[in-house]
Amino acid sequence: MDDGKRMLLDWIAQDEEVLVEFLSAFVQAKSPNPPGDTREAAAHVCGLLDREGLAYRVIAPKAEFPNVVASFEGGEQGRHLVLNGHMDVFPVGEHEQWRYGAWSGAVAEGAVWGRGSADMKCGTTASVFTYRYLHRLRERLRGRLTLTAVSDEETFGPWGARYLMEHHPEVHGDCCLNGEPSSPLSVRFGEKGPLWLEFTVSTTGGHGAYTHLTESATKIAAALVADLESLADIDAPAPGNVGAVLERSAGAVDAALGEGAARIVQRVTVNIGSIRGGLKVNMVPSECVVEADIRLPVGLGKEPVLARVREILAGYPQVRMRELNFSPPNWCDPEHEMVGIIQRNAEDLRGIRPDPVCSLGGTDTRLWRYADVPAYVYGPYPTGMGTGDEHVPIEDFLHVVRTHALSAYDYLRS
Ligand SMILES: [Zn+2]
Repeated sequence: MDDGKRMLLDWIAQDEEVLVEFLSAFVQAKSPNPPGDTREAAAHVCGLLDREGLAYRVIAPKAEFPNVVASFEGGEQGRHLVLNGHMDVFPVGEHEQWRYGAWSGAVAEGAVWGRGSADMKCGTTASVFTYRYLHRLRERLRGRLTLTAVSDEETFGPWGARYLMEHHPEVHGDCCLNGEPSSPLSVRFGEKGPLWLEFTVSTTGGHGAYTHLTESATKIAAALVADLESLADIDAPAPGNVGAVLERSAGAVDAALGEGAARIVQRVTVNIGSIRGGLKVNMVPSECVVEADIRLPVGLGKEPVLARVREILAGYPQVRMRELNFSPPNWCDPEHEMVGIIQRNAEDLRGIRPDPVCSLGGTDTRLWRYADVPAYVYGPYPTGMGTGDEHVPIEDFLHVVRTHALSAYDYLRS
């Protein structure tokens, strides 16, 4: 093994306790979004950079949503790698069950527990420590390394990575590496795109016994919901080399995202997230509002989907549609050099060769892909993400740190 890589692994071995303490305190630095205030979490990251004497900037278009950005040049000119992770986390629900407190950062049973431990303070810690360790080896590196620890990810907000990508082109780079939960079995190179539509059904409404006088908004909504299911039949061939890669990775997709995931990764899915209609059991409802979360596979634009929706709506003159949100599906080369680098390092470290996959949900890496910068995600299992008992096993956490540090080094080494 290259002696730079050996040094990186030695430092990580010596720092195991430091790393676990850092992640534990990072979880304790509450940053639920909403409201998304990450000042305490950002101070934790800045504290480490300060102690290491590493320069950084805090870019905060809104004071509660700071973004920490740091960058250094290697010994020679070369490519620019960007490390990205978010500092905000899901909120804690009232009915969630937690073995340890949701914000405890408890270190117990060989894991670090609490909201954000897996999504994604584990991955962001890997980015911060990768930056710290590679800075020590900077004279051996060719090119530039940038760290971006951002806010405002969980709600697709405008003040985090989106703000940086729009106003600070110096964070685009030539490749981006991110540690969102993906499972150690897969490297993500793309993600489906959410298209959120709202349908409002309006009728006259009336007395529940006088069904001969008015149509029912809720019954029309029920029929519409059933018809929307046909969106899943839209043909969506995978672009470029994606189809062949996904076919080979089907087992990893199911293992990482649950049985059946491989079947829907390249298909349109329809989730009816909410239906609101009716006031009282003995009235015919005059209004019903349906919100649909439609996920588009990579290679599919929204036009064919909206065209099909309009065809369906032609049969429903009582319905108005409004688009609430759209992020195009996105992908980058699944056979890029960085994928091979991550695969080799994960395999050397743990005997796992992660397969390239597309994810069902979204991350900030889409913003780099929209800017034509290849962006890859390699992180822990999504255990308890968005529910109680979120945690990350320490062994998985250290594996993500090691894989990120070695892979960033491989990409930049001269
Ligand atoms: Zn996340």
